[in-house]
Amino acid sequence: MTDQNRYDRFFNDELDALKQAGNYRYFADLERRRGQFPAAVNRHAGGARDITVWCSNDYLGMGQHADVLAAMHAAIDTMGAGAGGTRNISGTTHAHVALEAELADLHNKESALVFTSGYVSNWASLGTLAARLPGCVVLSDAGNHASMIEGIRHSRAERVIWKHNDLNDLEAKLKAIPEDRPKIVAFESVYSMDGDIAPIAAICDLAERYGALTYLDEVHAVGLYGPRGGGIAEREGLMDRLDVIQGTLGKAYGVVGGYIAGSTVLIDFVRSFASGFIFTTALPPAVAAGAAAAVRHLKTSSAERAAHQARVAEVRAELDARAIPHLANDSHIIPVMVGDPVKCRWISDQLMERHGIYIQPINYPTVPKGTERLRITPSPVHSAADIARLVGALGELWSQCQLARQPIAAQ
Ligand SMILES: *Cc1c(COP(=O)(O)O)cnc(C)c1O
Repeated sequence: MTDQNRYDRFFNDELDALKQAGNYRYFADLERRRGQFPAAVNRHAGGARDITVWCSNDYLGMGQHADVLAAMHAAIDTMGAGAGGTRNISGTTHAHVALEAELADLHNKESALVFTSGYVSNWASLGTLAARLPGCVVLSDAGNHASMIEGIRHSRAERVIWKHNDLNDLEAKLKAIPEDRPKIVAFESVYSMDGDIAPIAAICDLAERYGALTYLDEVHAVGLYGPRGGGIAEREGLMDRLDVIQGTLGKAYGVVGGYIAGSTVLIDFVRSFASGFIFTTALPPAVAAGAAAAVRHLKTSSAERAAHQARVAEVRAELDARAIPHLANDSHIIPVMVGDPVKCRWISDQLMERHGIYIQPINYPTVPKGTERLRITPSPVHSAADIARLVGALGELWSQCQLARQPIAAQ
């Protein structure tokens, strides 16, 4: 046997460095209470405690919606547990076909393709398009999610990063690329950590002028914006200007999975060439059925979206009343800025241990150093009493931590 300690020493040193920097990731062991979410039980070394979750991406509480659960139960009872194969080899169930039809309709596209997660959908779709279009250049917003970055990297296509949401920089970079080279402009609608929103129409104008495909990640917007939950592009009447709209079934839709929607030929191309789509077992039919139920429900019900926006406004107003700094943005994401990884971790621990409030600290590398934050995600299932307890606890901890109270301007 080789000297195993040599390897373990390396692993330990790296982990110690992460801990020293305050960037080590501790997972919270949670058990959500169906019907009572955001209530959950947190198990820890000393026992268990009742907590309220304030950092979930189950933005609307669809993870406990009666229609979603009924669809999943029914699918298990009729079709069983797993899909039993890749999509190509016996894994395409009727639940998958129906979900893809539901998603194509949501975005008013000819076709949609479901993947095992949003991450995989970005990685596989961008990776395939960029690798296979001859001489392709990908123009990637500097704030893009790791799944897009990894997909582009994997494609080995040339990558040009444009300044976050900066139209002048995007145009300068488009202009510098020969007209006949294929181009993809890849960006998000709602950016997950700052909660700011891209100027989609103007980006589409530029892409059109310079002959580029548009690829939009609407992960933090589908279900939440637009009359039928089609995202920011739906709200702004822009869905037909995007070549690819990508989304997740794991956040506002409350289940798991990812997808792209687009023209029949583009979707067929990705379906036919994307390794990350082809060589993996399809999602369980119950997952597909549950996700379809969530999408269907939110197409006709706007009550959840309205309550969501109202709850977000209430939390912001209460934070302002206590001068607790949070980034101004036009979305539902409330980044409460701490600006120090150790304090961020400490506040999060105190919230959990003393107040029964769970907000995961967001540190480097998820956000740049010096912008460590608590990312608060209110939902329709948070009550006025939940909000009062949250801001009361934050106010107390802000004083103890001697953190600045003046508002921090939007970046
Ligand atoms: C969460 C996220 C993804 C990945 O989606 P999953 O379904 O969680 O894999 C993709 N893009 C962005 C911007 C995200 O925040």
